Amino acid sequence: MAVFDSLDSEYEQVVFFHDPPTGLRAIVAIHSTTLGPSLGGTRFYPFPSEEEALRDVLRLARGMTYKAAAAGLDLGGGKAVIIGDPKRIKSEELLRAYGRFIETLGGRYITAEDIGTNRDDMDVIRRETRYVTGVAPELGGSGDPSPVTAYGVFLGMKACAEEAWQEHTIEGRTVAVQGVGKVGYHLVKHLVEAGANVVVSDVDVDTVARAVRDFGVETADPDKIHAEECDIFAPCALGGVIRDDTIPELKCTVVAGSANNQLERPEHGEALAELGIVYAPDYVINAGGLINVSDELQGYNPERAKTRVESIYRTLREIFHVARDRHISTSAAADAFAGERIGKIGRVRLYWVPGGRGWTKIWGKG
Ligand code: NAD
Repeated sequence: MAVFDSLDSEYEQVVFFHDPPTGLRAIVAIHSTTLGPSLGGTRFYPFPSEEEALRDVLRLARGMTYKAAAAGLDLGGGKAVIIGDPKRIKSEELLRAYGRFIETLGGRYITAEDIGTNRDDMDVIRRETRYVTGVAPELGGSGDPSPVTAYGVFLGMKACAEEAWQEHTIEGRTVAVQGVGKVGYHLVKHLVEAGANVVVSDVDVDTVARAVRDFGVETADPDKIHAEECDIFAPCALGGVIRDDTIPELKCTVVAGSANNQLERPEHGEALAELGIVYAPDYVINAGGLINVSDELQGYNPERAKTRVESIYRTLREIFHVARDRHISTSAAADAFAGERIGKIGRVRLYWVPGGRGWTKIWGKG
């Protein structure tokens, strides 16, 4: 395939790692290091073809640049994929080979967990490279990001409530939560404590039962939760839930949840805006996990991470302001907000500083 054609002018670097004895075939895509080292998870997945793996890693790396920029982090965007079925080929030697390859990039890419990888894998990778986050707390890691992500989503919902109803609270509002897994569960807890009426759905019956038992919430059919009569629809399961067939069925004023890639296509952001639905751009409202994990680079401090996650509220308010001001959708406003930050801060970083105060300095003591 024509690799350079798929990169267009946007991507800085794409690295292919191959270690035949362990079966490791990995691709690291570095989209941008303008704001700092690129950070993004390693997806371990049996991609049907190398082309699809490359397409996915490029798309995901670009998304990380925007997510980190909108979150106000001094980080760029990157992502990695390991091609293969983790259940079949994941091994200590494969992960350590991968870790050694990551180390060769000298910190231009920092990895983390993603689909098909977990904290234990990050601990193994850590034995070969410093450039890994999401390791065990005993190794300086930040633990499960889900409660922090949920907290960020909850604060983001408050920003949405201000935009939709000029009210700072979500007390008395009805929130329909699609998916009560790791993030959804913690989100429901915040919502119930804040006095919202919560309706949940999940395709996993045990997971729904846990939410009902712990919080006494109502339930809805997983196929119909998006069409629930509610104030806020919170997609916290899969991506692509906002699309041609679901948009006409929405009966909410706000869409705000943790799921990645909620809009099936970018124009679905415009469709929500035309209906007067306040949409919290997914990569802005769900950045709590990234903000939390990136704190490890300075020596993890839970209080500092929590304070940084609170910025999601202010960022969303600013994005809503940009959208109103420029008469564009909130999803377009988020892209503009992130892109402008990259441009402005990137320009400042072009000044030469004696002794080279490059982005490597984000490592606390360095
Ligand atoms: P999870 O796997 O723990 O939970 C997802 C839940 O959704 C599961 O309980 C699953 O059974 C349920 N589900 C799947 N399909 C469904 C459907 N059609 N209808 C209703 N429920 C369905 O995952 P998670 O960590 O809670 O993440 C949820 C979403 O948030 C994902 O899109 C993830 O990419 C995104 N996200 C998570 C984090 C984090 O910190 N965990 C950070 C950023 C973004």
